Amino acid sequence: VTLVVEENVSLRNRNTLGLDVKALRYCRVRSEIELKDALAYARNHGLDTFILGGGSNIVLARNLDVLVISMEITGCEFSGHQVTAMAGENWHEFVELTIEQGLYGLENLSLIPGLVGAAPIQNIGAYGVELSDRFMQLSAVDKASGESLVLDKTQCQFSYRDSIFKHGLRDQLIITSITLGLDGEFCPVLEYADLQQRFSAQATGQVSAMDVRDAVIAIRLNKLPDPEKIGNVGSFFKNPEISAEQWNDLRARDDTLNSRVMDGGIHKVSAAALIDKAGLKGMTKGAAEVSRQHALVIVNQGTATGQDVILLADKVIEAVKNRFNVTLEVEPIVVS
Ligand SMILES: Cc1cc2nc3c(=O)[nH]c(=O)nc-3n(C[C@H](O)[C@H](O)[C@H](O)COP(=O)(O)OP(=O)(O)OC[C@H]3O[C@@H](n4cnc5c(N)ncnc54)[C@H](O)[C@@H]3O)c2cc1C
Repeated sequence: VTLVVEENVSLRNRNTLGLDVKALRYCRVRSEIELKDALAYARNHGLDTFILGGGSNIVLARNLDVLVISMEITGCEFSGHQVTAMAGENWHEFVELTIEQGLYGLENLSLIPGLVGAAPIQNIGAYGVELSDRFMQLSAVDKASGESLVLDKTQCQFSYRDSIFKHGLRDQLIITSITLGLDGEFCPVLEYADLQQRFSAQATGQVSAMDVRDAVIAIRLNKLPDPEKIGNVGSFFKNPEISAEQWNDLRARDDTLNSRVMDGGIHKVSAAALIDKAGLKGMTKGAAEVSRQHALVIVNQGTATGQDVILLADKVIEAVKNRFNVTLEVEPIVVS
């Protein structure tokens, strides 16, 4: 099959914020051979490339004058307790498949939008579990050389919503597959308050993987605005991690705030609570709005531009800094 490259393609339906920008060139790749063809095309035409997964963690604030490569390489391979999933697999469907196969550990990550290949970029996490808890290695292609390579967990430098792919290796590799290590026996992770509440009446041994999966799905559907209905990228800010000293200062400003104490006495604070208590829900810039449903989410009321979204995020950061002396960090990848 020869590679089909389209010109001036609208990405409006390819990013969950629904931002109306264009790709100068756009192609879909379904195999590693097509991927290498796409890289060769870009090289021959002097174009940079941008890898597009589900578009659920990007803020596109300009037209992409590059070759946008839609990652559509699919397939999953199980081997004992290990599974290798190709980058173009839908993340949630992949989680479902692992549970069907009697392999456990990903239930808490149910219903996270996007594709498998993007999962390592920000080390996706939810409800007390992170990708890195199960991660073994990934395969990738180097954009510059076209060579294939393998990175192990240490090399990926995972931390809270972060990895080397947001820093030293930003935009340099194309992830083609990930390999995870799962459990044959289900051991629920229920520390997260919402889950603790739901299962408080049950003995841990009585909670099944399907129970946890169903609970996570129900909580998420109830809490987060649906990008099918109103454009958003989920959490727009990371939960700040601050020192004990800063925590004391924060409590002095507002004694109703809570924190979770982490290793090294670091306090993790809810960014949503800070934004909410600073009175920012419903604040707008153009058609971008701090969601009234969930303070951590910025929504596109329809005609927002990427600039509106970025300027609104800046206003939130400034207001939270003024009120609480805490600097929020943006979670999604901003292309400006
Ligand atoms: C409603 C909603 C809820 C969400 N909840 C969560 C949550 O609970 N936890 C969480 O962690 N995230 C959450 N997110 C964010 C998002 O789902 C994840 O970050 C997801 O991993 C993004 O996947 P994607 O395929 O859509 O990536 P995209 O948005 O397409 O891409 C994100 C970045 O990764 C790069 N990229 C994508 N694929 C590859 C690849 N194969 N190789 C190299 N680079 C690549 C892109 O170039 C871009 O820079 C949520 C988003 C939404 C809309």
